[in-house]
Amino acid sequence: MDKFYTLRKLPYDFKALVPYISEDLLTLHYTKHHQAYVNGANAILEKFDTARKEKIDFDIKATAKELSFHLGGIRLHTLFWQNMAPAGKGGGGLPSGNLANAIDAEFGDFTRFKKEFSTAATSAEGSGWAALSYCFRTGRPLIMQVEKHNTNVFPELKILMVLDVWEHAYYLDYRNDRAKFVDAFWNIVNWDEIGKRLADAVKGLTFSQ
Ligand code: MN
Repeated sequence: MDKFYTLRKLPYDFKALVPYISEDLLTLHYTKHHQAYVNGANAILEKFDTARKEKIDFDIKATAKELSFHLGGIRLHTLFWQNMAPAGKGGGGLPSGNLANAIDAEFGDFTRFKKEFSTAATSAEGSGWAALSYCFRTGRPLIMQVEKHNTNVFPELKILMVLDVWEHAYYLDYRNDRAKFVDAFWNIVNWDEIGKRLADAVKGLTFSQ
């Protein structure tokens, strides 16, 4: 097992999500931002190794918080890339099967779910995410807002689908119009992938990237 984190390969090329996410934006987001969280986490692991070997103290509280931030960034971005696909080639349309049933049972219908999820995304304060999760305790799909990368993520939940609404996720293409980006997102949602994650969650499997 590799003792450091690696940037996982994108499941498509940089042009795949055009026109909803431009080649420039996806390239920047993946190669700079996602990569920075991988580098940040690895720098902390190296700091642990050095400090423990040389018996040097470090600020454990600050470092734990920083590590959580970077690991949240790695995990959420990996999920984000997976839960999108090129429009018309696995992306967009409507959920089907058990995922559609779970959404209907919880929200009434897809339109209502889409409205609630979009509102969670557009109203997230500052840097954050909207996430659809599955609660192991109640069996219900729940919408969450994630602040930055690491708050309000509960161990009871498996995340099924995320939408990054940090400014770096849309500013290049949409300037300050986050709502327009959120609207565009629905054209590239990979419902099959999200349905698979729900099936795993229902079986009681824990986190799997
Ligand atoms: Mn991001």
